[in-house]
Parts: sequence; C-alpha cells; structure tokens
Amino acid sequence: MTSERTRERLVRRLANAGIRDPRVLNAMRRVPRHLFVDEALASRAYEDTALPIGHGQTISQPHVVARMTEVLLGDGDPPAKVLEIGTGCGYQTAVLATLVERVFTIERIRGLYSRANGHLRELGVHNVRQRLGDGYLGWPTEAPFDGILLTAAPPYVPEGLLAQLAPQGRLVAPVGEPGAQALRLLIRGDEGIEARDLAPVSFVAMQEGLP
Ligand code: SAH
Repeated sequence: MTSERTRERLVRRLANAGIRDPRVLNAMRRVPRHLFVDEALASRAYEDTALPIGHGQTISQPHVVARMTEVLLGDGDPPAKVLEIGTGCGYQTAVLATLVERVFTIERIRGLYSRANGHLRELGVHNVRQRLGDGYLGWPTEAPFDGILLTAAPPYVPEGLLAQLAPQGRLVAPVGEPGAQALRLLIRGDEGIEARDLAPVSFVAMQEGLP
C-alpha cells in the first residue's frame, strides 16, 4: 500500500488532473508521503486527500501541494531561496527541497516543528532550515526570498511577508476567510506587485502569535 507503485498511481492521477510540470510530478514521485503521516494512516497516504497530523492540523491534499508548487515555480528556473510558512509535518517542505536550492520553513506549533524535523532528518534532507515562530513575521535575517509559499490561510496577504519577496519573486498563498478562500499568486514585477486569483481552496487558518 505504501510502495512505489501506489505512489506512481497517484502521480498519474495528478497528471490527469492537470498537473503539467514534469519537475513537480517528479518531486511528487520522489517524496514518500506515507512517512509523513501516522502509521495508522499510512495506507491512505497515496489517496488524493488531506489527512490529520494532530494539533487540529492537516497534511495538505497531494493535488494542492503539486499545484501550489507548480505555481511557485512558474515557467522559468526554480527560485533559489524559498520561504515556507506552516511546516506542519514537513511534506510540502520536502517536496520543495527536491526542487530549489534552499528552503526556510516556519511553524508555530512546537509538536509539529519537532515532528517535521524528525521526518526531514530521516529522509536525509539537508537544504532545509526550520524555525519555531510566527510566520506573519517571516524570516527577516534571511530575506529576500525568490519564492514564498503559505500553507495556512491568512485573511489578507501579510505586508511583512510581501516585503521579504525579492524582485521577480513569487508569493503563493491561500487567502481569505474559511469557506471563501482563493489561491493567490503575487509577483513582484518591475512595475510593482501583480496579483492573480487562481482557484478556490480550503486551508486551515493562519494564526497570529505562538500558542
Ligand atoms: N505544509 C503542511 C500543511 C500544514 S497545515 C504539510 O505539508 O503538512 C498548516 C500549518 O500552518 C499548520 O501546521 C499550522 O500550525 C501552521 N501555521 C498556522 N499559522 C501559522 C503561523 N502564523 N506561523 C507559522 N505556522 C503557522
């Protein structure tokens, strides 16, 4: 149930559902999602659904992870330095780590921060730095970032994060109140910020401060 064959079937399903970027499909093929969920749920790891990871949070649906990664990458070279907000169990982090040079990721719940740390070590992922903190503040000492990805939904795109986006950088975020969120892409172009809403999505809310 957790074999490469099952994973390959998921990748094929993602391709049929419109994920086109071969780099992203390859990343989804390489990262063993079953290692990021509880053993009791491992047999469901290659279904295209979100699953609980404790603390009231979920590991995102594979299609959503693939789509957000595709939007973050765009058509050009992958961003070198990426900031992720909402590490959760670290699955999206691991997918990003196969595609970009360096990933910086922030989580506000200590239990998930540690859990992701364990998973990433177990997989030998070396180009990720983790921080326990409030993602609304970003990671000022490492800014600017070529890409910023949020995996929890704020009611609006935080100005502080946008300020940490490099020229030509891309920020991808689910934005809006529960029940009315859209996946939004913001690009820092020569003439300022260009924003586009891509699809309706459903994410856990981004919380302010530490628990
Ligand atoms: N990318 C994750 C999905 C995790 S769900 C995965 O693949 O598993 C969203 C995560 O965002 C949760 O773990 C939640 O605790 C975290 N989160 C919510 N608000 C946050 C904030 N202000 N700063 C950092 N993390 C936050």
